[in-house]
Amino acid sequence: MIDQDRPRRLSVFGSTGSIGVSTLDVIEQLDGRERFEVMALTGNGNLELLAEQARRFGAKLAVTADESQYMALKDLLAGTGTDAAAGVSGLMEAADLEADWVMAAIVGTAGLSPTLRAAARGADIALANKECLVTGGALFVDAVRRGGGRLIPVDSEHSAIFQCLDNDQRHALERVVLTASGGPFRTYTRAQMENVTLQTARTHPNWSMGLKISVGSASMFNKALEMIEAKYLFDLEADQIEVIVHPQSIVHSMVGYADGSVIAQLGVPDMRTAIGYALTYPKRCALNVERLDFAKLARLDFETPDESRFPAIRLARTALQRGGAQGAILNAAEETAFGAFVEERIRFLDMAEVVEAVMDAMTEIAAPTTIDDVFAIDREARLKAADVIAQRKP
Ligand code: NAD
Ligand code: MG
Repeated sequence: MIDQDRPRRLSVFGSTGSIGVSTLDVIEQLDGRERFEVMALTGNGNLELLAEQARRFGAKLAVTADESQYMALKDLLAGTGTDAAAGVSGLMEAADLEADWVMAAIVGTAGLSPTLRAAARGADIALANKECLVTGGALFVDAVRRGGGRLIPVDSEHSAIFQCLDNDQRHALERVVLTASGGPFRTYTRAQMENVTLQTARTHPNWSMGLKISVGSASMFNKALEMIEAKYLFDLEADQIEVIVHPQSIVHSMVGYADGSVIAQLGVPDMRTAIGYALTYPKRCALNVERLDFAKLARLDFETPDESRFPAIRLARTALQRGGAQGAILNAAEETAFGAFVEERIRFLDMAEVVEAVMDAMTEIAAPTTIDDVFAIDREARLKAADVIAQRKP
């Protein structure tokens, strides 16, 4: 039971990233109206920013995931009252601190262990790290349920669905429609997409985000992960999850009911709205974000995603239909292919081919039932992906 008289205790995993920085901005905006105490902040490389955040918020603990940076972080925090920790054990220490609410905003599979740990302890989890659900699936949902905390989506599409869902009418829920901006290559031909560079792939037309998710928006692998994320968050069947390209990123997603009604959530593309909702849910808070001006908007466009240029959507549907460990396999193969693309070892469109080859080679693997299973599947899929990449002609 949370003692209402004491400040709400918050931790931000991945505080130095795009979502992390926005989360601290929201906390700062609400401070004074809501009372907060910042417990743990975690980052990886950007020590100066992490130390500055820890000082600004009087955090109890600051953690760098990079073990070799422990002394450097400790030095930066000398005399501040914030403890330093490092490595995976440091992240676990952060998870064990008694925060009531945890923002899970580490990028990639690295976020799974600390988030699971905080969930098992009963913290409310504001989930930006979609990889927790894509890799852990039912295991992750069960851990949150058993811990007794709430799982509140932060991904803008899932926050939208969460806001539109009428839980009393779940029997009448027909489908969810995830919107996708289409990314920087929405209007490119497949031939034009052959030789795109990292520099163009990382420039998102509407959202300012971390590198991995920006490239994932260009390939639509981000949407693929979000389709799988939606399945576990909202307990949906594969055929209840649709994707529509919506270049303006104003409609963040929609829920369709059996009577033909569709409920949508709209707003300017600013993650702070979803973060604020996750922080004060079920209440809404006042935030200093830009307001929608419908007169200026003039139009909202929608188009069907072209799966020959964006095979990620088809691969996600395949993963959903096959079930088992295919979500975790898709995720690990995509992280590996993304790494190879960043290092210019493969081309942009090769990423989907690598993912498909790995998924097809691992159809027999059952859904994980323990976290060790998740990591074993993840390792195997990464090795397989590295193999597929090595065997490709340059
Ligand atoms: P980012 O790259 O900007 O930040 C990632 C954070 O994780 C940083 O604090 C970084 O230091 C930390 N980190 C990196 N590698 C780590 C490791 N190995 N171990 C521990 N910590 C590590 O990423 P982001 O854009 O803020 O995205 C974070 C998560 O939120 C991702 O899962 C992403 O898919 C999701 N998300 C982001 C947005 C967005 O607008 N940026 C929107 C929806 C969902
Ligand atoms: Mg999203």
